[in-house]
Amino acid sequence: LHQVSKIYKSGDRSLTVLDNIHFSVEAGSTMSIVGPSGSGKTTLLGLCAGLDRATSGTVELHGTKLNGLNEDQLAAVRNQYVGFIFQNFQLLPTLTALENVMVPLELRGERNIKSRALDLLDKVGLGERSHHYPTQLSGGEQQRVSLARAFSNQPQILFADEPTGNLDAETSEKVVKLLFDLNREAGTTLVVVTHDLELAAKTQRIIRIKGGKLVA
Ligand code: ATP
Repeated sequence: LHQVSKIYKSGDRSLTVLDNIHFSVEAGSTMSIVGPSGSGKTTLLGLCAGLDRATSGTVELHGTKLNGLNEDQLAAVRNQYVGFIFQNFQLLPTLTALENVMVPLELRGERNIKSRALDLLDKVGLGERSHHYPTQLSGGEQQRVSLARAFSNQPQILFADEPTGNLDAETSEKVVKLLFDLNREAGTTLVVVTHDLELAAKTQRIIRIKGGKLVA
């Protein structure tokens, strides 16, 4: 990110949510973003992942400047490089766990998507629940489906927003292990927004956001 700001406008009022943020993440490394509630962490993660656009400044992902891309080009970059784990999972409610994991594979026009999606669900310990709908799964189980979905396109960089929020200690440990296994085994860059300081301490770098500014 090069001097990135995000300003929300509503009527004649404007709210600066991110103010001149500048940092880079080394490929293959792990980093966490911490800071108080409302400080701009989720907004920052969305900008890094190309889910949202900066008001000013430049976001560069894997050598591509995201600012100049149209929506289709942006989606193509996301499909190719990015995995995202949302704070509230964002599973599609009318699809089963298996179908949710199959979506990114289908979008990429890949083959054998059903067996690959099943393998991924096995990996997160949900092979037996593949035909359940999100409402039939616990919060932790939904989070693991969301992980399997984020892993499915073998992202080079994985953004995770509060991946352990709302999980009990045991499930949280499992999820954290999956994230770091992926970084170790596949070299996936990991960027995590978290309030969990134990998780943050496991990453190689921590940045702190306060009031939209990078303070440490
Ligand atoms: P938390 O830890 O509680 O999840 P956060 O640090 O992730 O918080 P953000 O979700 O990035 O914070 O929100 C930062 C600020 O931007 C908040 O004040 C929020 O109200 C505001 N904000 C977020 N999205 C919008 C939007 N679409 N329009 C206007 N303001 C927004």
